[in-house]
Amino acid sequence: MAGRDAVASAPLVQIGQNYHRLRKRIHWVFFAVFLILPFFNIIRCDIPNQRFYFAGQELRINEFSILFFTMMFLMFVIAGVSLVWGRVYCSYACPQMIFSEFSLYMEERIKKLVNKKLIQLPAARRILLARLIFYSLLLVLSVFLSFIFISYFVDPWDLLKRLSHFDIVTAGGIAGAVTTIFTFLDFAFVRVRFCTLLCPYGYLQGMMSDRNSLLVHYREEGPKKECIECKKCVRICHMGIDIRNSPFQIECIHCGECIDACDDIMARLGKPGLIHYAWGEQGVKTDAPGQTWYQKLGIRDAKRVVILLVLGFYGSGLFTALSMRENIMVRVSPDRSKLSFETADGQVSNRYKIEVANRSNKPGSVTFVLDGAPGLKLVAAQNPVPVQAGETSQTVLEVVAMGAPQPGVHHFRFLSSTIPDGSSAQFPMTFIMPEKKNK
Ligand code: SF4
Ligand code: SF4
Repeated sequence: MAGRDAVASAPLVQIGQNYHRLRKRIHWVFFAVFLILPFFNIIRCDIPNQRFYFAGQELRINEFSILFFTMMFLMFVIAGVSLVWGRVYCSYACPQMIFSEFSLYMEERIKKLVNKKLIQLPAARRILLARLIFYSLLLVLSVFLSFIFISYFVDPWDLLKRLSHFDIVTAGGIAGAVTTIFTFLDFAFVRVRFCTLLCPYGYLQGMMSDRNSLLVHYREEGPKKECIECKKCVRICHMGIDIRNSPFQIECIHCGECIDACDDIMARLGKPGLIHYAWGEQGVKTDAPGQTWYQKLGIRDAKRVVILLVLGFYGSGLFTALSMRENIMVRVSPDRSKLSFETADGQVSNRYKIEVANRSNKPGSVTFVLDGAPGLKLVAAQNPVPVQAGETSQTVLEVVAMGAPQPGVHHFRFLSSTIPDGSSAQFPMTFIMPEKKNK
């Protein structure tokens, strides 16, 4: 009892780090990121059109190098972050956590507001009214969140059009309605339980952390027990655990809310808090003196240096692959279904298959000319070859022998120039002149 009185009356002598405030600010940043990513094609997987968007670039399934480097880079980011900083993604950036906490906050605020403003109503009615308001607002929010979520898989502007027409008949509309229902149920009833019961990433992170990863530790500094058993750290924990039992509990998302709670209580007694962010099993406090700058960042052993190097390797591979990428891709291959063909007026010709893929969002065209081909003439139904945004054009170019070149193989090149890119390319080819014309 004496302890409690002391807690109530002691002045607030030390303000903690306030991880709660920091997390809320970071939540807003990641919420904005979550909204922005699909609209600007920063990361989006367009399932109906079989496209993958990364950093504003439209990638096709055959652009293996970019997809490979993107996947490997993201995989190593996840592995590296989990290894060094434990579950910071869960507590600071995960949309499930952000919206679960927001839903809890919203429910609490509505309850308080209804109780305060409608105190004259019986308690049962106030509870019912608060629930009605909360569920109605959550339903609107669920429509919005589902819209953003589905935007990662279909064109967001097309989706917006469908939503404005209340399309719940087509496959897209049905998917939207089902996602909305799941979102509503998730944030109304499941919330953070999802993290411990269903989320595979949470389990994965547990496996990836090691003896040097960042953890939340409870530790008594002196020989005497300092914890006053106020249980504020337990009450504040959304994951429903007591961090004093162990820093290795799988439910702990390392959010730091219990650190704030304990700092606050212990500050009233003029003492430092008993819960801290600390590195690994040893529990070295993040702000312990004598640490180098890289140790403070979590680079505490060779394994982390290797992860950083691998990350740098895949990052630079991705950067190189993206910078070498052309918006309009041109492929030329000889049609060797026959060695040579004959035109209507009896001249020898060779045919070449052209494929032009436009990976940009503007229409373009490609012009072909011959180089190093005396006595050969290019005949094409279409030259320049037009190609619409996001589409692929296929055509055949015919190279005709003017006069009578020597029988045998003649080497030449196709030169292509692209609009609007202004890029050019050359394709070494062969022209086959038979001894006798094909019959
Ligand atoms: S660890 Fe801190 S917040 Fe938790 S019960 Fe002890 S004094 Fe209270
Ligand atoms: S124990 Fe602390 S750090 Fe872990 S989830 Fe609960 S409040 Fe967050």
